[in-house]
Amino acid sequence: MHLPELNPPENCPSCGATFKGKYCHKCGEKRVSAKDFHLRKYAQTLAEHFTHFDSKALRSLRALVSKPGFLTAEFVAGRRNLYLKPLQLFLLLNLAFFLFFGDNDVFSPKLKWVYHSESESKIWSGERLKDLTDAYAAREQIAVETAIKTIDAKSAGLTKVLLYLFVPLLGTLFFALFFRQNPYFLCHLIFATHWFAFLLLLLMVGGTLIVLLFQIKGMVLLTAFLVLLLPVHLFATRYFYGGHWAWLALKTLVFFAGFSVLYLLYRDFILFLTLRLLLDFPGL
Ligand SMILES: [Zn+2]
Repeated sequence: MHLPELNPPENCPSCGATFKGKYCHKCGEKRVSAKDFHLRKYAQTLAEHFTHFDSKALRSLRALVSKPGFLTAEFVAGRRNLYLKPLQLFLLLNLAFFLFFGDNDVFSPKLKWVYHSESESKIWSGERLKDLTDAYAAREQIAVETAIKTIDAKSAGLTKVLLYLFVPLLGTLFFALFFRQNPYFLCHLIFATHWFAFLLLLLMVGGTLIVLLFQIKGMVLLTAFLVLLLPVHLFATRYFYGGHWAWLALKTLVFFAGFSVLYLLYRDFILFLTLRLLLDFPGL
């Protein structure tokens, strides 16, 4: 028979250490007894978990918006219990982004932009993508415009699922710019995680508002985002890395140049991947 202990045990059942408090100070095991198996206790724990997550999530979101750079600084300083973990926050926003805010999203790699653009979008692999689209349309015996629509529709989900790929790349960028201020790569990675979480929130909330109020799209929308993002970025780097404003402004420009390159690479990568994986067309 496997029944729970009636009274809380004196020694940790996992490692044998004497309990001091609710958890084992040596291995972290919880001190459980029969009353932990009452149904009421279970319901209580479940409710606590949800409200706990709720208040943590709300607190994190508020800090993310109102104090740029603050969440990373708190995490690095070891004050972690009040907030969601960086990756939790990222995944929460990524999920919301995926589920509710698909349409006004500037990350969707629109093949129609790449295909019809004369110069701007052909910096990386635009010509190759154009050839592939033509070949795909020929194989399927459909009009090129139909092929473009099909590929754009298929790539929309993939774009949002793979957004995390940006985080290590941006972390590397932050490391390259601020390794003198902070030599630990993981700190930059966490900064990048919060940075991107903020961007997702901006895309969802800010994007919806801007589109509703001003009815703008495409490059104008992207510019509006940058105007909102640049000062937040500047304050966040100032808060977390410190330094003179002039240096930070310069590094901000370098960062956004790097980010634009990554954005174009990501867009083309998603389009190649869509052709290869979702449409089974030998693209790469
Ligand atoms: Zn133990």
